Amino acid sequence: MSEPSLLLARDQTVLRDLLGDRVRFDEPLASHTSWRIGGPADAFADVATTDELAAALRFVFRRRLPWFVLGSGSNLLIGDGGIRGLVFRLSGEFARIEVELEDDLVVVRAGASASMPALTAQAASNGAVGIGSLAGIPGSAGGALRMNAGTDREIGEFVRDVWVQAPTKPEPHPVTPQYFYRHTTLARDVVVARVTLAFPKGDARRVREEMRARLVRRKNTQPLQLPNAGSCFRNPPGDKAGRLIEAAGAKGWREGGAEVSALHANFIVNRDGARARDVAALLARVRRAVVERFGVELELEVHMAGVFRESPA
Ligand SMILES: Cc1cc2nc3c(=O)[nH]c(=O)nc-3n(C[C@H](O)[C@H](O)[C@H](O)COP(=O)(O)OP(=O)(O)OC[C@H]3O[C@@H](n4cnc5c(N)ncnc54)[C@H](O)[C@@H]3O)c2cc1C
Repeated sequence: MSEPSLLLARDQTVLRDLLGDRVRFDEPLASHTSWRIGGPADAFADVATTDELAAALRFVFRRRLPWFVLGSGSNLLIGDGGIRGLVFRLSGEFARIEVELEDDLVVVRAGASASMPALTAQAASNGAVGIGSLAGIPGSAGGALRMNAGTDREIGEFVRDVWVQAPTKPEPHPVTPQYFYRHTTLARDVVVARVTLAFPKGDARRVREEMRARLVRRKNTQPLQLPNAGSCFRNPPGDKAGRLIEAAGAKGWREGGAEVSALHANFIVNRDGARARDVAALLARVRRAVVERFGVELELEVHMAGVFRESPA
C-alpha cells in the first residue's frame, strides 16, 4: 500500500548520527494519532532539544526533503499511504511548562510539546481567568497554536509571544501571527518551538470549578470512548456544523470502520479498524448531504496529511 521511502541509506545514517534511537524508519503513524489511523512515515524523529530541531531542519533543507511536524495527532487524518520524508515530534525540553505570577497576571511559558490538559490544569490552579475555554482540548501547545484551538475563546487571545524554528531559519526566533477561527497566519514551514500565554489572575477556586463543569459537559456530549479527532468541520457563520449534519440525517452513517457519531454529529468515530479512506469517504458524503440539503459548504477543521491515493494492486 505505501510508496517507497524517499530516504537514501546515507540519509538514514545522518539521522541516526543526529538522533540515535530516537529516529525510526517506516514507523506506522496510527498509534500517534487520536483516530488511530495513518500509514507509515519514512522517518519519525523524536526531537528533544532546540539544537536537535535546528540540526534536523538544516538536514531536510539541505536534502530538499519533505517534512511534517506532528503534535499529539488529535486533529489529524493521516493517509493510509503514510507520510513521505521526515515526521518530527517534539519532546524533552519542548514539554516544559512554567507558570509564574506577574502583578495581576498568570503567565504560562510552555514548550510546543507541552500537553494542553496539563497546561490548563496548572494555569487553572493559579487562577488563570479564561483558561476554561481551553479545558478538555487534547493535544499539544504547538498544535493548539497552529489551530488557534478553543471554544468560546481561543488560545490566540492569550498569546504574549511565540517562538518558531524553520528550515530556512533554524535558530529559534519570535513571530507575531494573527489568529482566526481555527487557523492562523503562521507560515506553513515553521515549527512552533515555544509559546508564552498571559491570563488575568482571578480566584483559583472559581476558575477550577468552571473548568470542572466544562469537562463534565464534554464527557456528556462527546463520544470520548471511541477514537476520534474532535469536530471534523468548522462551524459555518451563524450556525453549528453538528446541527446541520444531524439535520441532514447523517448520524450513524458508516463507511468501513468509520461512523458519524450518534452522540455528536460533527464527530466521526473509529468504531472498528477504520482506514483513512473510510473517514475521507464519510467526510465527503456528509459534506455532500449538507450542501444538497442546506446549500452550506462545510469546511474541514481536521488537517489531512500524507498519501491518500490508492496504489495499484
Ligand atoms: C475529543 C477531542 C475534543 C476536541 N475538542 C476541541 C475543541 O474544543 N476545540 C478545538 O479547537 N479543538 C478541539 N479538538 C481538536 C484538537 O485537539 C486541537 O486542534 C489541538 O489543538 C490539536 O493539537 P495537536 O497537538 O494534537 O495537533 P496535531 O493534530 O498533531 O496537528 C494539527 C496541526 O498542527 C500542526 N502542528 C502540530 N504541532 C505543531 C508545531 N509544534 N508547530 C507547527 N505546527 C504544528 C500539525 O502539522 C497539523 O497541521 C478536539 C480533539 C479531540 C480528539
